[in-house]
Amino acid sequence: MSLSNLNKILYKAQKEKYGILATVLFNFDFTQAVLSAAEEKRSPVVLMISEPLQEKNNYFNFKRLFEPVRKMAEDSAVPVCLHLDHGSSYESIRDYINAGLTSVMISGVSDLNKNIAEAKKICDFAQRHDVTVEGEVGMIEGEGGVEGNEDFRTSVDKIEKSYTRVEEANRFVNSTGVDCIAVSIGTSHGYFAEKPPLNLELISQLSEKIKEPLVIHGATGLSEAEYREIIKRGIVKLNYYTGLINAATVKTKISISKNNNISYTEVNHRAMAAVKDKVKNLLDIFGSSGKA
Ligand SMILES: [Zn+2]
Repeated sequence: MSLSNLNKILYKAQKEKYGILATVLFNFDFTQAVLSAAEEKRSPVVLMISEPLQEKNNYFNFKRLFEPVRKMAEDSAVPVCLHLDHGSSYESIRDYINAGLTSVMISGVSDLNKNIAEAKKICDFAQRHDVTVEGEVGMIEGEGGVEGNEDFRTSVDKIEKSYTRVEEANRFVNSTGVDCIAVSIGTSHGYFAEKPPLNLELISQLSEKIKEPLVIHGATGLSEAEYREIIKRGIVKLNYYTGLINAATVKTKISISKNNNISYTEVNHRAMAAVKDKVKNLLDIFGSSGKA
């Protein structure tokens, strides 16, 4: 059905109260697993390039893989948004937009005035190109994909201190013109020994005040009931990555432990099948199956 920006996907989801899965691309096989799950479930999906992961690991070779991925998205049977996750500066975000992404995120900074000024500059450029912009108010804690967190108590304290403030979020949205906003309500990037507490009341307060769709990062690890509850209260886009990588890792370990002579192609095939199953399950839980 084709390439889409975030608005086309999120507004319908917000109106009909279902959630949209957004996940990070790290290689071509993973992209195919996610896309074919979305097509089988007839669900819209958001595929993200993570600027921090690009710089740290270069998992996804943007220069080589973006064009084939863009073609896959264009040919897809469901709406696909190609989104930049955690863009760091005007210059880098402009380059990703010029390369053909349909949506971008500008990472939040703790100084609200600075956050507003940066986001406004991005919006002015992006929206001229029909590219949507996600802002962030209240820093989302944790480092993506880092397994184990020794100092968990500190992290919970940090998360509670970094909760998004409703008035700040409202001022940010009104002053910048962003299309959606990432909020800090208790989720965090990467792995945690214990789940931080979700602030459900805060989600309700935010969605009452702000009409733009709300986004959470670090959506891995909640219960089915919690996903349904936060979507009911107004979360529209859920960034979920760690749990998919985890599904592939677990399947890889099991496949090798059961059969020492197994080939790499078979291990990879099984790991990607596990990712696909996990995505299909999430699309059902988030309620986006059948909505494309
Ligand atoms: Zn994030």
